[in-house]
Amino acid sequence: MSRDKIADKISDKISLHDFRDVPISLFGLGKSGLSCAQALLRGGARISAWDDDPVARARAHKLAIPLSDLRQEEAMRKSQFLLLAPGVSHQHPVVDNARLWGKQVIGDVELLWREYPAARWLAITGTNGKSTTTALLGHIYAKLKRGAQVGGNLGLPVFDFKHTEKRGAGAEIILELSSFQLELIDKAHFDVALILNIAPDHLDRYGSMEAYLSAKMRIARNSKDGDILICGIDDELSQRLFLSLSKAGLRVHPISAQNEAPSGVWVADDKLYDDMDGERKVYRIPECPSLRGLHNAQNIAAAFALARSDALLEPQKIIESMPSFAGLAHRMADLGARDGLRFINDSKATNPHSSAHALVAYADSDVYWLAGGRAKGDSDSVGGAWLQDIYELLLANPFVRAGFFFGETRDALHRRFADLFPCSVFASLAEAFSVAVSSARSAETHSSKKDFRATDALSKVVLFSPACASFDQFKDYVQRGEHFSRLVAELG
Ligand code: ADP
Repeated sequence: MSRDKIADKISDKISLHDFRDVPISLFGLGKSGLSCAQALLRGGARISAWDDDPVARARAHKLAIPLSDLRQEEAMRKSQFLLLAPGVSHQHPVVDNARLWGKQVIGDVELLWREYPAARWLAITGTNGKSTTTALLGHIYAKLKRGAQVGGNLGLPVFDFKHTEKRGAGAEIILELSSFQLELIDKAHFDVALILNIAPDHLDRYGSMEAYLSAKMRIARNSKDGDILICGIDDELSQRLFLSLSKAGLRVHPISAQNEAPSGVWVADDKLYDDMDGERKVYRIPECPSLRGLHNAQNIAAAFALARSDALLEPQKIIESMPSFAGLAHRMADLGARDGLRFINDSKATNPHSSAHALVAYADSDVYWLAGGRAKGDSDSVGGAWLQDIYELLLANPFVRAGFFFGETRDALHRRFADLFPCSVFASLAEAFSVAVSSARSAETHSSKKDFRATDALSKVVLFSPACASFDQFKDYVQRGEHFSRLVAELG
């Protein structure tokens, strides 16, 4: 074994030895960019890295990552390829420069796949529920098998995974992949790939649903015999995808939380049906406190189907390991009850589709709904079309008692919902919160709900599910969710 390889083994970190002395450009020095740059440097690559943000550059400089302005032709001309951070627009001048010089543009997942082609790769994408499903699958593996590496868009950047011998043989890699990351794969193929659901999202970047859909479809672009695809069928677009993947002759299993899914997995009430082998089996799902609601039934079906494709995991054990899943912060996280009100932090709901699911999960309660921020699509569209799904839901089932809207979209939200329930607008989340709490406290409980979980005083819920991105007032959804949690904690 070479000295380098022994050093890797000891440090447990990945080094990319295939690129010794190879010039590589790397743009975007966030968490995953820094991690990837370091793996390349450990392997002896000659990298030139850059970021538009001087603070990110200063951080990289401290880590001895060589910097060079990649908008300059010279730096790019010598590179073998451009490694791009997923958040960067493909209209960025650096990408233009790479194209000008005929350089391939790839991401860190592609690079890791080239390093570990022999690993078993499980990849998860979809519009909503990716992180929950990824973490739930990680939890199942941690309980039943151990050793799987979990990360990608969620948690660890892929180059913070542990070093694995023999090109990854015997290793299991569970990845959450955003559409941005999928655009940056080339040869990577996944042994098991999931498309959970498709709803309008990121239209500011993609311009059209078709473009967004084709980015998501890239998860299956290198699928071959023996690979397994799992696809949601609970919305029109993922259904379309399911049909076209099946027609392409790929092995694809449907999953559903709404309908029977022959040859796949579906959940109805507290039962899970497994028909992946064509021999329908039924399992009772035990109470899973952090997987409440219909959308989580979809996540349960998906995680089960993914785990079930591993012959070493017993279906009954997979189900039994789910109740101890603790859930993820900022996703319908129950912050507890105070003074007769229950507080839910769903800051991660950054589009109307995910908020619709969070709202429905509390249809048994009187909901005081806090929402607003920056719209991802066209918030000025005539009649508030981007909010249509939530509108129809709340029109049919009027359990929201009042809406408290803040941020850039507050007026659009007010316009859309004012005929359904009392709405008020505020400049900030803190102001909206304070009025929501006092209104909820003083309001009568809706008569039909008076006995609802009387022991727990759960009948009134203050639900923070913004339906919008956070960037107008916060760094990200985490900072926004922490802010909400602090406001709740300060109530005493
Ligand atoms: P993602 O990683 O795709 O953004 P998360 O698992 O972080 O998804 O969940 C984000 C929010 O989306 C949650 O807070 C919840 O409101 C909603 N959500 C979770 N799972 C689903 C699902 N399967 N379908 C629709 N909405 C969901």
